[in-house]
Amino acid sequence: MTFIVSQRCGGCKHTECVVVCPVDCFYEGTNQLFINPKECIDCTACMHVCPEGAIYSAEDVPFDYRLDIIENEVQSANCPNITEKKLGGAPVKKKVKKKIFKRAYSAIIQEDEDEDF
Ligand code: SF4
Ligand code: SF4
Repeated sequence: MTFIVSQRCGGCKHTECVVVCPVDCFYEGTNQLFINPKECIDCTACMHVCPEGAIYSAEDVPFDYRLDIIENEVQSANCPNITEKKLGGAPVKKKVKKKIFKRAYSAIIQEDEDEDF
């Protein structure tokens, strides 16, 4: 399984997704980002922080965005890697990035634990 960025991402320059990705597997196209399916470790962190709801598990992609699965595979191999947030001033440093990821990840774990009860 992998996660993918759908075309709903178009034009977003906030790039919260990039900040929380522990393996830096986002790539920047002209109008949207893409995830490299060979690098994504399925942690789900990016999906929880995307304000546009543009990120899906490849297994749960709505019909209208099915072609985006292939698009992510192809474009991520041809676009530059993006590892820092684009707007909002200075690039986010690795140390801060780890903190943000930990916060996002602990929220996910909490959600899972709540669902178990
Ligand atoms: S946060 Fe969502 S909409 Fe913004 S760049 Fe990332 S995937 Fe695209
Ligand atoms: S699911 Fe995790 S590893 Fe995959 S792109 Fe999102 S943040 Fe990165």
